Amino acid sequence: MSPWKAAHPGDAFEDIDTPALVLDLDAFERNLARMTQALAGSKMRLRPHAKSHKCPDIALRQIQQGAIGICCQKVSEAARFVEAGVKDVLITNQIVGARKVAHAMDLAARATIGVLVDHPSQVAQFDHASQERKTTIDVYIEVDVGMGRCGVSSVQEVTDLAQQITAAPYLRFMGLQCYHGSAQHYREPEQRQAAIRQASDIAVTMRHALEKLGIKVERITGAGTGSVALERDSGVFNEVQSGSYVFMDADYAKNHQGPQDVQFEHALFVKTGVMSRPTADRAVVDAGLKASSVDSGLPVVWKKPGVHYTKASDEHGVLQTEQANDPALGDFVLLIPGHCDPTVNLYDELICYRAGKVEAVWPITARGAAL
Ligand code: PLP
Ligand code: MN
Repeated sequence: MSPWKAAHPGDAFEDIDTPALVLDLDAFERNLARMTQALAGSKMRLRPHAKSHKCPDIALRQIQQGAIGICCQKVSEAARFVEAGVKDVLITNQIVGARKVAHAMDLAARATIGVLVDHPSQVAQFDHASQERKTTIDVYIEVDVGMGRCGVSSVQEVTDLAQQITAAPYLRFMGLQCYHGSAQHYREPEQRQAAIRQASDIAVTMRHALEKLGIKVERITGAGTGSVALERDSGVFNEVQSGSYVFMDADYAKNHQGPQDVQFEHALFVKTGVMSRPTADRAVVDAGLKASSVDSGLPVVWKKPGVHYTKASDEHGVLQTEQANDPALGDFVLLIPGHCDPTVNLYDELICYRAGKVEAVWPITARGAAL
């Protein structure tokens, strides 16, 4: 093992080289427990989204604590998790192209795999590939419940697709994907409530239309970190796909919480070091765009009042400081990433710590998986 890694198990937290992606294990474990508690006694299954962590060590812990499987966004990600022993993966995306379809079918021979469709040609591709291999794959129809991304909108499209799927011998129609992504980040609880109420109404309309045709809708799946209690209490959804709850990023912390919301805490940080102190009010750290994603805002400095991250360039981050020597050259600070998912994708490893010591280093195995 090369000694020149950011950290090894047993190292002191102070000695983790920078920039590094670090996980507060106590906070992370509390987040897992909070989700379990929030769903206890409800009929909701937990299928966390692994797009946030891309890390089999985390997926296996989630499953150990009651998750029925995971979601992934890409076939290539799903492959990494199946290789690591995950037995049930829903790829929450439309899979288009012969190579990707073949790869998904390979995985379906080894694990329970689900895919989304919102067009007859996607169904036709999977029908063909599944018959050729005599391998069954789960298929969900994605419904646009208000996000304006993928998904069909009309009852007719849903019933047409469902009939096409049920007529295909190796496709198993499972239900409806009804994830409302933009609602997660609506700042006011009332806005999130209204959006998920609308999503639930749409899902019910679609379910009734399918049931009238004698088509069973086993699953209505959706929900992210910002709305999980709303889907739980909807009486419509029966599966939760939250992902970011394990980490909690700075963007999620901007949501105003309502009484019904489930509270999670920051567990993921970028540890960064002060490499230049050019003026009394400016410190420059070694975490810029390549260390913390800025698509949902700049990172936020953790527990250092008066110190603000104000500018990111490739490998530099500018901190505005009130005191000339705090932080000083060589000091480290922790940053809460603006958006956890793309930040994790910048790193090969997650350095896990507890009580001032590195406890484990978990590979981010599915990061950068391209296909
Ligand atoms: N489900 C789908 C389809 C998603 O695209 C996402 C994230 O974008 C999630 C679930 C998880 O959402 P979050 O990370 O906000 O909990
Ligand atoms: Mn995200």
